[in-house]
Amino acid sequence: MSSISISFRPFTLDLKHQFTVSSYSRVTTPIMLVEINHEGFTGYGEASMPPYLGESQESATRFLSKINFSRFKSFQLDEILDYIDSIDVGNNAAKASVDIALHDIQGKLLGKPLHKIWDLDPLKAPLTSFTIGIDDHAKLIQKVKEVEGFEILKIKLGSSSDKEMVKAVRSVTSLPLMADVNQGWNSKEYALEMAYWLKDQNVILLEQPLSKENIDDLAWLSERSPIPIIADEGIKRMDDLQKNLGAYNGVNVKLMKSAGLREAKKMLEFSKNHNMIPMIGCMTETSCAVAAASHLSPLCNFADLDGPFLIKNNPFEELSIKNGTIVIPSKPGIGVDIIQNII
Ligand code: MG
Repeated sequence: MSSISISFRPFTLDLKHQFTVSSYSRVTTPIMLVEINHEGFTGYGEASMPPYLGESQESATRFLSKINFSRFKSFQLDEILDYIDSIDVGNNAAKASVDIALHDIQGKLLGKPLHKIWDLDPLKAPLTSFTIGIDDHAKLIQKVKEVEGFEILKIKLGSSSDKEMVKAVRSVTSLPLMADVNQGWNSKEYALEMAYWLKDQNVILLEQPLSKENIDDLAWLSERSPIPIIADEGIKRMDDLQKNLGAYNGVNVKLMKSAGLREAKKMLEFSKNHNMIPMIGCMTETSCAVAAASHLSPLCNFADLDGPFLIKNNPFEELSIKNGTIVIPSKPGIGVDIIQNII
């Protein structure tokens, strides 16, 4: 009998505000909570599955049900992760949930937080942004006023009133902004014109302004834009990063796209070595997956790790923000415990 066992259950995150981006709106996010047990240690993991990414609690349940740890007589992280990745194609968030729980166990076995295992300095973590979804101006201003502790905001563009939105935000804050278009613009010339205008508004980067299919237009834009063009939808895993070199100035790596920490770390290191700006982001997630991602933030120039601050029912210990930076947990593993015994 294997010494490694897994259990999982679906959970629904309730968002504090309706979340609207250029293509859809929602008030909840379906996730799966995963627990892996080994030698008396419990590792926690999470799959966050916003519907547009194509995974669901049903697909994750199917994937996680296929896992059989009986072939592993000892805890060999790399071999186990190779096996998880080989079970099926896709299922990146479901794979991430297992990867996170296994890394949590690894840290607990070694008695070290992940960033220590990776020899990363928590003092090098960049400021993390707080995301403001598309909304009417009154609500937008209200949301900006509610933000506390963050020193960069991320706004969602791609509606018909982008400039008005930025001006509304600017009427109540002078904090630097990141802008995320979620593929919402159609023309490279318009995107370039907007990039110049946004730079004047102290917008420091522009995420996925055009469709991920328009590689040539993205490369044209990235060559000319006065602020960095960052990939999100266009780059999920390492092979996408290799294929898209030159199309963007940087990449927003997220555990739910990269199938977890192991590949996210490789992608961030690869981007750094290939003149791409490394950024770490998240979906609407609990502090479980975001704590995991936070351990990689010292590798990055930018961070957008606001997931647990956007939800009402986080079942894990809260993370804190200090001087605009997420405080990377110092306990072994990912460093957050479950506070509701819900698995
Ligand atoms: Mg994005």
